[in-house]
Amino acid sequence: MPYEHILVAIDLTEECDPVIRRARELAVSNGAKLSLVHIVEPMAMAFGGDVPMDLSQLQQQQFDQAKEKLEALKLKYPEVRIGDSHLTYGQPRQEIHQLAKAQGCDLIVVGSHGRHGLALLLGSTANDVLHGAPCDVLAVRLKRPE
Ligand code: AMP
Repeated sequence: MPYEHILVAIDLTEECDPVIRRARELAVSNGAKLSLVHIVEPMAMAFGGDVPMDLSQLQQQQFDQAKEKLEALKLKYPEVRIGDSHLTYGQPRQEIHQLAKAQGCDLIVVGSHGRHGLALLLGSTANDVLHGAPCDVLAVRLKRPE
């Protein structure tokens, strides 16, 4: 059965290009719709939730910058009809799963640095997304800088 709707999760760094390219190849060969998602993580969460200052302006700037980058990416990949692009606040795993379910996606594509051992304790979004995913997950191996 070909995939019908592929959701590609992007962190908006330069590393997201190989992830989108792989998802795009799959979308073309499966005749699938391709959607993008980026999640802006709440700053308070990154600082442990207890910050003695107002982060709302900074957070808004972060959101606006992410929006611009996402728009630029949509222009960069015009061959595939980008069904939708989503920008949300929250925790990546939770938001990606929720969106995949709501949009009826049958494949989630993420990048993976292939971390293992202690490095994995720092957190791997690919690993996180895999657990409890509502559909197939493809982890695109990203090369580590030498
Ligand atoms: P990481 O494990 O954080 O290095 O991220 C690996 C992959 O997870 C990235 O290549 C993206 O596919 C995905 N990812 C990480 N952070 C985000 C984010 N904020 N929004 C969407 N996808 C993300």
